[in-house]
Amino acid sequence: MNILLTGGAGYIGSHAAVVLCAAGHNVVILDNFCNSQHSVLDRLTKIVGKPMPCIEGDIRDTLLLEKVLKDYKIETVMHFAGLKAVGESVQNPLDYFDNNVGGTISLLHAMRSNNVKSMVFSSSATVYGMPNYLPLDEAHPTQAKNPYGRSKLHIEEILTDLAASDPAWHISFLRYFNPVGAHESGLIGEDPNGIPNNLVPYIAQVALGRLPHLNVYGDDYPTADGSGVRDYIHVMDLAEGHLAALNYIQQQPGVCVFNLGSGKGSSVFEVVKVFENENASSIPLKVTMRRIGDVSECYAKVDKANIHLNWKATRTLQDMCRSTWNFQKNHKCANQ
Ligand code: NAD
Ligand code: UDP
Repeated sequence: MNILLTGGAGYIGSHAAVVLCAAGHNVVILDNFCNSQHSVLDRLTKIVGKPMPCIEGDIRDTLLLEKVLKDYKIETVMHFAGLKAVGESVQNPLDYFDNNVGGTISLLHAMRSNNVKSMVFSSSATVYGMPNYLPLDEAHPTQAKNPYGRSKLHIEEILTDLAASDPAWHISFLRYFNPVGAHESGLIGEDPNGIPNNLVPYIAQVALGRLPHLNVYGDDYPTADGSGVRDYIHVMDLAEGHLAALNYIQQQPGVCVFNLGSGKGSSVFEVVKVFENENASSIPLKVTMRRIGDVSECYAKVDKANIHLNWKATRTLQDMCRSTWNFQKNHKCANQ
């Protein structure tokens, strides 16, 4: 199939591009590079063995999108493009609604006028808000805790209304838990600008010596070791989940929702230990106050994706930590 990946130069989109190419699909990337680097395209070429068409542009440019959908005879869209920093969304909610919600509406207009009515959308476990019960299944009530989460919920609602208005739409929301890790080549991975907000990229920066220590945000949670528990999923498992969802929606009109996680919770201290063991490094720690808005535990029930998508996360926390470090070391050398 001819597949457009909005935000395909980013962390998750670039890994999905590799998996889709390997499955024989024709991938076209559209990205405005507001949170990615052009060099990722050369690195993708090295991995897949041929260049991938990439259009530099913004999803809010409906005319450009219409042209791209036409020129490349696009049949389906994987919609990764979006801003994703929770703190920034609290500071600049309008930017988040404009880019994420406005951008999606622009994309949907272009898709509808080109009769492209199939989409896999990057949603997030953040739409569940504070867990009422664990593990979180797809029927758990949704609730946004910040503008970023609200932008994801708004998009889910828009897509649901759209599919209800026209049975030709085939849409899947994939609610990601905590994606980490990198492609085994070490050529692509997560490379956040500035000081990372997320745990594993932060640990990698400490291991590189760029940050002095990891702040552990609380060791007094009601968890086994007192630190926060999350469901970490290897980005390659996540990418394979997109291929599975793509195949599924071909036969499935309307909207379907899937959690993509490992189904297993790991604490901050566990992640640090695994990272240290895998990479023979030592991560200095300082236990600090809880981070505002953090929940103590969050992990997925993944039965629905296991059954309907015939997909399961297979890679371990060890694989995630090893591949993160492999990418970071390579990337550090490449940038020197
Ligand atoms: P990322 O920032 O690495 O990738 C997003 C890409 O979209 C970037 O390359 C960016 O330049 C591009 N982009 C942003 N706005 C754009 C616009 N208006 N037009 C064109 N391109 C635009 O982020 P990621 O981690 O790969 O996340 C991909 C998607 O998954 C996002 O929608 C994010 O909200 C969602 N998600 C991510 C996580 C996570 O932890 N990484 C968790 C849940 C959901
Ligand atoms: N965390 C931490 N120090 C950091 C970053 C994160 O202790 O520098 C903890 C955080 O409190 C949470 C877990 O690590 O319990 C995962 O945080 P992350 O931001 O990666 O994911 P999210 O909380 O958004 O699911």
